[in-house]
Amino acid sequence: MIHIEKTSLIPNWQQELQSAFTDIDTLLRFLKLDTQELAEHYRAASDFPLLVTRSYAERIKKADWNDPLLLQVLPCLDELETHEGYLSDPVGDAQASKSPGIIHKYHGRILVITTGACAIHCRYCFRREFPYSDNSANRSQIANIQQYLAENPDVTEVILSGGDPLMLSDSKFQYLFESLSNNKQIQRIRIHTRLPIVLPNRITKHLLATLKSSRKKVVVVIHANHSNELNDEVESALLALKNIGVTLLNQTVVLKNINNNTPTLTSLSTRLFECHTLPYYLHVLDKVNGAAHFDTDIQHVHSIYAEMQKQLPGYLVPKLVREEQGKSHKSMLQTNYWGINI
Ligand code: SF4
Repeated sequence: MIHIEKTSLIPNWQQELQSAFTDIDTLLRFLKLDTQELAEHYRAASDFPLLVTRSYAERIKKADWNDPLLLQVLPCLDELETHEGYLSDPVGDAQASKSPGIIHKYHGRILVITTGACAIHCRYCFRREFPYSDNSANRSQIANIQQYLAENPDVTEVILSGGDPLMLSDSKFQYLFESLSNNKQIQRIRIHTRLPIVLPNRITKHLLATLKSSRKKVVVVIHANHSNELNDEVESALLALKNIGVTLLNQTVVLKNINNNTPTLTSLSTRLFECHTLPYYLHVLDKVNGAAHFDTDIQHVHSIYAEMQKQLPGYLVPKLVREEQGKSHKSMLQTNYWGINI
């Protein structure tokens, strides 16, 4: 059930954010995990700190170091290793940055970096080293976005990204969303967000009213990697979005020891569909510094994917993709019946 803010000046979701876990020791105690290696976890978190909402932490199994949700968020020493081919900007965001907060890679759509803030820090994040302070589209930069759109009339879709665009307050988000909605050139507004997963209370009445008010097509692309992330609260939040006419899609990253097997990914697809969401992309890992321990051998990914194709109806099979610097579209990874890259 979604809790809508009552009379307090701070909405429930922002209060919940204030109580998120930022301290490794406190999180591990909450999860009934005991370690002699706390200092090493802290060392790994020095550049990219721990951040986990209470709601998400409650879905982590207690006393289990191998829980697939915990492994996504717990800083570990592997992150400090350097590996050839791993970069600070593996998908070429800097090269495609056209003005502060605007990334234009693909025909017909631009991506707007709305904020550097997230409600959770995913250790494999390809933007973990992104220079947000130079790029976020703050209120005064909305005029720049409108100007960029006017100079590029072929752009008909704006993707709100970050960080997480739903980390903006209701009023800031409304201002940005309405200014894009009022632009005749724009046909679709897409929102890339992990908030419905990690902080389902963020789907407030106010936010729903804002999204519903638009005459544009609104697409919300969530990010879930494991069916354990999709509890009843998440399902209710997604239902609320669906009920106002939002198209719901999901993207997943293949992550070693978290979801790199067929049963986990097929149950994620079926659970997403119960939650009114279609599986959209299955990304192979973007090779960002500090994430090499999440990578899965590509032939193994192909064999998992071939099995998914056999076991799931086509509409529940996400597209297997890789994002490559400088390309005009994401690369679809083709797999034949035997799971071999073709
Ligand atoms: S929520 Fe998205 S942008 Fe934020 S840390 Fe996770 S993957 Fe990165």
